[in-house]
Amino acid sequence: MKIRYFDHAATTAVKEEVLKEMLPFFNIEYGNASSLYSIGRQSRKALDQARHRVAKAINCEAKEVYFTSCGSESDNLALKGVSYANKGKGKHIITTKIEHPAILQTCNTLEKQGFEVTYLNVDEEGLINVQELENSIKNNTILISIMFANNEIGTIQPIKEIGEIAKKHKIFFHTDAVQAIGNVRIDVNELNIDLLSMSAHKFYGPKGVGALYIRKGIEFERIQDGGHQEKNKRAGTENVAGIVGLGKAIEIAYQNFDKYNEKLTDLRDYYISQIEKKVTNAKLNGHRTNRLPGNANISFKGVDGQLLLLNLDERGICASSGSACSSGSDSPSHVLTSIGLPAEYAQGSLRVTIGDENTKEDIDYLVDSIVEILNNN
Ligand code: PLP
Repeated sequence: MKIRYFDHAATTAVKEEVLKEMLPFFNIEYGNASSLYSIGRQSRKALDQARHRVAKAINCEAKEVYFTSCGSESDNLALKGVSYANKGKGKHIITTKIEHPAILQTCNTLEKQGFEVTYLNVDEEGLINVQELENSIKNNTILISIMFANNEIGTIQPIKEIGEIAKKHKIFFHTDAVQAIGNVRIDVNELNIDLLSMSAHKFYGPKGVGALYIRKGIEFERIQDGGHQEKNKRAGTENVAGIVGLGKAIEIAYQNFDKYNEKLTDLRDYYISQIEKKVTNAKLNGHRTNRLPGNANISFKGVDGQLLLLNLDERGICASSGSACSSGSDSPSHVLTSIGLPAEYAQGSLRVTIGDENTKEDIDYLVDSIVEILNNN
């Protein structure tokens, strides 16, 4: 059976060109990037090239890019690294109720360690209120961490306004851009972003490698003991092949940005319009236009979302009922709860995330399958 993959927010397939650049670093150029002999220096050079590629994509300096093992590690490192180093100035952090668990659970840990965290509400479309953000700033606020775009409902936050508020109040601004990289143009200087997390497997790079941008001059404490890799901010031998893959993937993502973005937006809007035409009691979750180009999260009233997923799977369709991390659980996700979605809609939510290999024919097959399944139940 042909597999039709609509779960690009969960992960993506590594692109051929990316894999090709990675392969030599497994068994030919396998030197440790900290070794002084030639194959070690080759690895160091490859890391430098990847750092430059990331820097070019988000308009920062290469020395402000630090490689990690995933988006979750980047989030942990950003929040703890800034909080521990700046606790003398204050212990208050502001975030939102709809962050990924990598942020929410890190905040929870920080609370246990004596930090205070404000969790901002979002409206029905998943947007924070920037006035509420500014009102929650206190004398001891040291960090604002707000995701660029939500992994479940795709809503893109007003990052420029948030960055301006953070700058005005001299507070560090971190954004979890794991879902946004490759899907949104990001200039960390224009947006006043001080720290930014990313993860290669969300933009056609390999799993198990991420990066954290840290603006130069920010007081930062490393959280993992060990060697002096990544300018002493992240101990551990670098995953050279993975980092090479991340660098190549982000380069391709922004080289092809306009075409990719237009294609995904067209397919997404086509899918949404077809569902709204053919299914009664379907409700789009998240902001209608201010959303990730490939994300369409739709709730079907009174439908069992898990059952719908299983039926779609039988037809070769991969989609999600929530985020990858919360799927498998029966209760509505914290994101759907935060946007105030009634239970009869929240249980029947289907997240479709479209990617590069999808076609209009795939969308027609998906829509027909959904209609058929709903009619038979
Ligand atoms: N942040 C967001 C918004 C995500 O969607 C994810 C993964 O789904 C992560 C962080 C974690 O990234 P990783 O899977 O690389 O740890």
